[in-house]
Amino acid sequence: MTVQPTPSRPAGPELTLAGAVGDAVEVLVVGIAKATSNGVSTATRAGASTATPAEPAADDARGPVLLGADVLAGTPLLAELASLGAKGEVGELTRVPTRGALAAATVLAVGLGSLDGAPTEEQVRRAAGVAARSLAGTTRAATTLSGLDLGAAAEGFALGSYAFTAYKSKPGTAALAAVELLVPDVGDDGAAATLRRSRAVAAAVATARELVNTPPNDLFPAAFAERARTLGTDAGLQVEVLDEQALARGGYGGILGVGQGSSRPPRLVRLSYSGGGTVKVGLVGKGITFDTGGISIKAAAGMEAMTSDMAGAAAVVATVVLAAQLALPLTVTATVPMAENMPSGSAQRPGDVLTQYGGTTVEVLNTDAEGRLILADAIVRACEDGVDYLIDTATLTGAQTVALGTRTPGVLGTPEFRDRVATISQAVGEDGWPMPMPEELRADLDSPIADLANITGNRWGGMLAAAVFLSEFVADGVQWAHIDVAGPAYNTSAPHGYTGKGGTGVPVRTMIAVLTDIAEHG
Ligand SMILES: [Zn+2]
Repeated sequence: MTVQPTPSRPAGPELTLAGAVGDAVEVLVVGIAKATSNGVSTATRAGASTATPAEPAADDARGPVLLGADVLAGTPLLAELASLGAKGEVGELTRVPTRGALAAATVLAVGLGSLDGAPTEEQVRRAAGVAARSLAGTTRAATTLSGLDLGAAAEGFALGSYAFTAYKSKPGTAALAAVELLVPDVGDDGAAATLRRSRAVAAAVATARELVNTPPNDLFPAAFAERARTLGTDAGLQVEVLDEQALARGGYGGILGVGQGSSRPPRLVRLSYSGGGTVKVGLVGKGITFDTGGISIKAAAGMEAMTSDMAGAAAVVATVVLAAQLALPLTVTATVPMAENMPSGSAQRPGDVLTQYGGTTVEVLNTDAEGRLILADAIVRACEDGVDYLIDTATLTGAQTVALGTRTPGVLGTPEFRDRVATISQAVGEDGWPMPMPEELRADLDSPIADLANITGNRWGGMLAAAVFLSEFVADGVQWAHIDVAGPAYNTSAPHGYTGKGGTGVPVRTMIAVLTDIAEHG
């Protein structure tokens, strides 16, 4: 096994509660919103809850609105922001030197966009992320965004500060090192609890990102399994790792079939957290550590992004660890199939028939539709635990991106739970969207020689057909959601909000919010 140069758990910035801007603070980050002709009064009211409303251009009713930034009241900084053209557009950054007016040398105003009443959590989270990305090299910042939404501000700063640097031989600009989150009462128990949770959530997202970003020469199935084992053991989870011999003994034909073309054999990892309560939740994540497509090989252009084809697995590993850290009163088990999909003399062929765990036979018409084959084994195994709820997530189909773009996960499954997961995903800013499983697609998966084919014979509704395939393996009575994150798990475009390039950690925050909701409401 090669040396693993990257830690599985990167350190984020130090986040602390503060009642006033400390002496060592270099930059004070404030929020500024875009006022519309009918939005300015509500925006001003939003600011009024924590501060005297302060508008950079008080004589212009449509000027931008500073939010909760009473620390700037009585200074000339408001007027300076306005004169520098600050408008409060999404992602806009305006810097003003304070010249002694504040302890911090600089004020950084970050745009939240237009408001409809108070800013949303996600507006605050994204603004904090934009600020954090721009503050690389800064040792200590403070912010009033925490007065708008403490948890969202903390998450935004932590997520926006993330950088994957493990493979850089020379140190680059250091990430923002510390943030003081200004709050009205630093001794408030609720604020401390909110900050603890936000730190834990952001750390889990960073863990998922780190796993996704680790290149495929160092993150192959056995290496990934060892990292998952370490993360699980450190969190006090029960850990089980099946190697290729154990997979063969157990009849995991999907995982073995997909992995047989690689010199680096597959694994199945099970991480179990027992937090009490009566509800059992299964998590399943696709862990293709690199997807060439196999014999149905992909085009060369962009193939390097297939290092992210284990993002679903990374997300469920991070989520079950997080569930333990948050001590949720649930039983949660992550069942994580890991394989490398390579073309070789031992690779599976189009036309092969494999026998999935549980006995269903599948004709492999396209070896690049491999995710569903490893997921099917894992779903059957997860359902054997008698789970009430099952969430699987995968970078499963290019069709997800065609249908919903690069940032919107598709959520499919049993209708009630699907809608619940999508609603929660939208509330946390990951924006999952419910999609149907039209019944006529099932016949398109018929095979003349096996129980099922792994693809349909047409191009249409590929995300939906993949979910229909998976539904064949979900036990009756299980509330099931399938989250396709083919685009959203990996950002190949410019950084935005709290998301840099590479692994995004989606859908960790959706899954932990769903688990929390189940813990609270059943
Ligand atoms: Zn594939």
